[in-house]
Amino acid sequence: MMKRIYSKHIPKLIIGLPLSGLVVTVILISFITYLTIKNNFDKQKEIITEEFMENLKQITKQRTNIAYNIIDALYKNNINSPDPKTKTLKILPDILDKLKWGEKGYIFVMDFKGNTIYHPNHKLIGVNRWNLQRNNVKIVQLLTKKALEHPEGTYAKYWAYNPSGKQPLEKISYLKVYKPLGIYLGNGVYLDYLDKKLLKKQEEHQKLYKTLIRNIFYLSLLILAVMISVLLILSFWVRKLFLQYEKELKTEKEKLFKRANYDSLTGLLSKSYFESLLQKEIFYIKRKKDLGAVLFIDIDGFKEINDSLGHKYGDETLKEIAKRLKRVVRETDFISRFGGDEFLVFLKDIDQESMVIEIAQRILKEIKEPIKLGEHTHHISGSIGIALIPRDGENVEEIIKNADNAMYSAKRKGKDRFEFFTKTLSELAKKRINLKNDLYEALKQDELIPFFQPQIDKNDNLYGSEVLVRWIKNGRKIPPFEFIPLAIEMGLIDKIDLFIIEKAIKQYNAWKNMGYKPGVLSCNVTMYQLEKTDFATHLKEIIEKNNFNPDNLNIEVTEESIMKDPQTSIAMLEKIRNLGININIDDFGTGYSSLSYLKKLPVSKLKIDRSFIKDIPDDKDDVMITKTIISLAKNMNLKVIAEGVENKIQRDFVFSHGCDYVQGYYYSPPIEAREFEEKYLKENNGS
Ligand code: C2E
Ligand code: CA
Ligand code: CA
Repeated sequence: MMKRIYSKHIPKLIIGLPLSGLVVTVILISFITYLTIKNNFDKQKEIITEEFMENLKQITKQRTNIAYNIIDALYKNNINSPDPKTKTLKILPDILDKLKWGEKGYIFVMDFKGNTIYHPNHKLIGVNRWNLQRNNVKIVQLLTKKALEHPEGTYAKYWAYNPSGKQPLEKISYLKVYKPLGIYLGNGVYLDYLDKKLLKKQEEHQKLYKTLIRNIFYLSLLILAVMISVLLILSFWVRKLFLQYEKELKTEKEKLFKRANYDSLTGLLSKSYFESLLQKEIFYIKRKKDLGAVLFIDIDGFKEINDSLGHKYGDETLKEIAKRLKRVVRETDFISRFGGDEFLVFLKDIDQESMVIEIAQRILKEIKEPIKLGEHTHHISGSIGIALIPRDGENVEEIIKNADNAMYSAKRKGKDRFEFFTKTLSELAKKRINLKNDLYEALKQDELIPFFQPQIDKNDNLYGSEVLVRWIKNGRKIPPFEFIPLAIEMGLIDKIDLFIIEKAIKQYNAWKNMGYKPGVLSCNVTMYQLEKTDFATHLKEIIEKNNFNPDNLNIEVTEESIMKDPQTSIAMLEKIRNLGININIDDFGTGYSSLSYLKKLPVSKLKIDRSFIKDIPDDKDDVMITKTIISLAKNMNLKVIAEGVENKIQRDFVFSHGCDYVQGYYYSPPIEAREFEEKYLKENNGS
């Protein structure tokens, strides 16, 4: 499952990132604008101040020069009078009163000793102001000193009388000495003009700055709005794409999960997924001191359906069984197809064993219900092995293995049943594993020995013998039913059969060389190996190598195994028949062969299964079946042999009904070659 939904963050990212960028940019631009304007203003202020000062200086200089020229003209006009100096000074105030510029522009005249010669405030005329002090500066002394130092004219800056107010104002004046009268004159301008002008300029700048900032702000707002709308559209579009992508990813993930964890045919859990779930369940069961169970189910006779009706029907059968299993178990339980026709069921929260038994019985019943596929209806059954958790295993592996062992035991006990796992079962399983390991060695170490059981004709003469394998291990005789299924599992059975056939043939040849007449040899062959194409080739090699007449060799194949896959069987048996070897159908009457197939099989002899002979003459059915098999064989021109004949009544019965040969404990059990030679060949030879 997806833990994070990335698409949720997309609008935030798409809007948030550029937006914060924009805000930062606006702040930066505003700040830079401010700095630029301020810098510009400072520079302008400097220029303005300079220009203004220059202007003021020019103005005061001009005004002083005008007054100077007037005084000079006055003086020169009076030069011929007896006292031109006094005369000039006398008329000076009236003339200079006319020289006024605005409220604060006027001419002042002083002599070099601090006496006021002219001042617009006439009260001051004649007053000595040598010690006049403003802002700690004796300004008359300062002006006089400057004027005398620069008789050609100079500027002076100082705090001066303010005609329009009490507070003195800073002023700049141009001073010029007029030597003929022993005076100097000056005109000044007040610097508060400059301040006013600068203030105005500053206001202008501030206004400009405010406008600029406001414009930047509005522009930003506009950009912001456009950007937000574009980004919103973009983000929704991208989010939609992402959502779609996430959805696809999720379904893809789910598909992958399904493919990895579920069986594609039945929809049940896969083997590995079942195992991983079981592991968790074992953990919980152990912690909560609960009880659980694993049922190992194998379908009996599934191979027959697959082989006779085809894989399509096989698959449909498995699907049907899966459906039925699902019906039986509870929601909390889970089922897996473990492979082929094997199913595993985990049962949770078991109160007691009886509950498991009930479920197992229900499963067996469900499996046994007829399966209808198209026109076909077939009947199958199941074998169930049960392992309880935690009793029957520590871990997944052990529990499944033990359930498998129990299933195996259910099969051996006749199928269509369930078995609980027991300690002895696990010991049996161990024994099986040991046997398996030893079986390889047995072949190499020559521990597999052919035994011979005589086959007798109705005149009590030896017809031949059936070759039956024995495994002599450390002096103990291990019967075939204990190791032949293992050999089949291990894929060793064909090697064992060829090995025993060759040994029997060699023994046969030895007997022949001694002048005995051992008759025919009947050797057992398990059908599985017949599927291997090279079996016939090996058989041919053995016959040729040992110079054996194939007509003296019978191969016994059980009816049941032929009918598992009649088509292949016919082909394989034909190959063997083509070597000149005779074929017998073993255990006849148990394998439900149809007459149509029987007619096609290249066989020469039927062997009545010993289960029918066993209860002769008491069981009427068996009597009837035996008679029927004999007459069937006669009708088909086949020889017939009865096995498992244990007494004279049985012997007489089968012979009297037309049986050709008998074999059984009545004459002899399977015996070693040496004993067989003693009892049947020597005697036979002699008679
Ligand atoms: P089968 O081919 O049906 O062999 C006959 C079995 O019946 C033999 O069991 C034999 O000992 C037993 N028997 C013979 N007479 C009587 C009797 O009067 N009463 C009773 N109750 N039993 C009798 P055995 O030797 O234990 O063999 C069991 C099965 O193992 C054989 O059944 C055959 O299917 C298989 N087998 C034996 N040897 C070989 C072999 O070399 N290769 C293969 N593939 N299978 C073998
Ligand atoms: Ca046999
Ligand atoms: Ca048999």
